[in-house]
Amino acid sequence: MIGTGVLKGMAVTARNFLGSYFEKDRLITVQYPEERETLPENYRNFPFLVYDNDPEAGLRCVACKICEKECPPQCIYIVKSDDKKPDYMGKPQFYPKIFDIDISVCMSCQICVEVCPFEAIKMDKVFELSRRERFDALLLRKDELAKSNTYYHGIHPLEAAEVDANLAAAAAAKKKPAPAPAVPKT
Ligand code: SF4
Ligand code: SF4
Repeated sequence: MIGTGVLKGMAVTARNFLGSYFEKDRLITVQYPEERETLPENYRNFPFLVYDNDPEAGLRCVACKICEKECPPQCIYIVKSDDKKPDYMGKPQFYPKIFDIDISVCMSCQICVEVCPFEAIKMDKVFELSRRERFDALLLRKDELAKSNTYYHGIHPLEAAEVDANLAAAAAAKKKPAPAPAVPKT
């Protein structure tokens, strides 16, 4: 019959309209900023640098500059240290004297995270970053980028647990004594 489709469509609209007064699930408007939805595990915005225990000494970044080279819009700027200092496992490492990310240019592609061999850079979920200043207010410096591993666990629990397990396995493998050389048979 002509018009059946229209009537069915209107019935769905009416059901949702009336239902929205009684069922919370049907309410799709979130009264932001008073109300906030929990962001999904895989939500990502801009990168941050992970540290273990101490924001300076515990920074995992060793200033290898791979992320700087691979970043498509070239919004990462790193100056490597001249000296070395012990990392969180006590191994002497270079560290970034300067580490800046211009988030007004960053396109949240996550390539920096994927290429980092040290699990040192991860994607953040913070999105309330608007500024009044026009120039370098969105240029995030090392001290603003550094966030703890506990913070990382808070925003990406599954991913962070997997990273911790991989790092622990790698550290354990390094500690394992090398197998004794085979003695040739006489
Ligand atoms: S997320 Fe992409 S654009 Fe942003 S800093 Fe990383 S590599 Fe560069
Ligand atoms: S964040 Fe990772 S890839 Fe980038 S410089 Fe530091 S260690 Fe290297």
